[in-house]
Amino acid sequence: GAIIGILGGGQLGRMLSVAAARLGFKSHIYEPGAHPPAADVAHQLTTAPYDDTDALSAFAGNVDVVTYEFENIPTSALDVIEALVPIRPGREALRVSQDRLTEKAYLQDLGLLVAPFADVSDAASLTSAVTRLGVPSILKTRRFGYDGKGQARLKSEADVGPAWRDMAGQPAVLEGFVTFTHEVSVIAARSVLGDVSCFDPGENVHRDGILHTTTVPARLSSSQRTDAVLIAAKILNALDYVGVLGVELFVTPGGLIVNEIAPRVHNSGHWTQNGCVVDQFEQHIRAISGWPLGDGSRYADVVMENLIGHDVDRLPALAKEAGCAVHLYGKAETKPGRKMGHVNRIVS
Ligand code: ATP
Ligand code: MG
Ligand code: MG
Repeated sequence: GAIIGILGGGQLGRMLSVAAARLGFKSHIYEPGAHPPAADVAHQLTTAPYDDTDALSAFAGNVDVVTYEFENIPTSALDVIEALVPIRPGREALRVSQDRLTEKAYLQDLGLLVAPFADVSDAASLTSAVTRLGVPSILKTRRFGYDGKGQARLKSEADVGPAWRDMAGQPAVLEGFVTFTHEVSVIAARSVLGDVSCFDPGENVHRDGILHTTTVPARLSSSQRTDAVLIAAKILNALDYVGVLGVELFVTPGGLIVNEIAPRVHNSGHWTQNGCVVDQFEQHIRAISGWPLGDGSRYADVVMENLIGHDVDRLPALAKEAGCAVHLYGKAETKPGRKMGHVNRIVS
């Protein structure tokens, strides 16, 4: 059987490895950090930094395709890998999504709605960005942000100075504040042949900047539902994408606004593990392996709840709950803000 190379050994890499094993594949994880959650379930593990060219070459030479669980892999590492084996989703998806400014401009050029935005490279450009977009607005680092990290909310002009100091000189983007009624996401997949399949949109609630729950079905009219799927398909086709993509959307009276995309399986798609015959992890492995996409239609109403930090202490009770599937990532240490697992509750 083929061997799937996965860059990153966190919970997403772990659940991708499990899905790969179910389809008869082996997985080889490449992860700089020690004791990654995926190590328990992968067939092979390379522990090395992303600047170790020899380790990267050996990894790439040992696998049939390389995918990733996060988008911030250094370009130099991708160059070494791509010389030896295909990377799916491809480089264009990574180029676009590694930088919020590039991503926003790309989505806007596709004719999609995004929050008003401005490039912020120094204190002067921040001042003119605030003049143009006003407050409230959100300052975000262009690169490496996740779970609301690297963001500062500007409620009044007085917040501008401290927010810029928080950025510590990193290039940033200022976004006008979008008044949305709620947030949804579409988990979409595209095969090597260009077939597209989307999971039913989920409605997302964040707590302290971290995804708290995803509920399916989301509150959307049938035309909004169609729009959401068309937006995702447009992005997939433009990128000539292979694999699963997460698309975060703001629902507003003026239409769906794209917040951001993630070129990988997505936390807001975890409900698919217990709501669909083929979940997002299997769909991703299928797509990157050249298989046809599977049946991702939803057969239940589900609420996914993340177990963050000491939420996981509720485990004995959760394990007894009817209709509740528990997914744990095997992380040794419980820390505040750390994603320890999630539960999927079947609610109908
Ligand atoms: P993730 O963990 O999803 O990658 P992130 O750190 O990349 O998160 P964003 O998705 O950009 O951050 O923002 C986090 C949350 O902050 C959004 O889900 C939304 O609730 C809020 N938010 C972000 N941008 C805006 C905006 N322009 N207007 C209003 N709210 C926003
Ligand atoms: Mg993000
Ligand atoms: Mg987000």
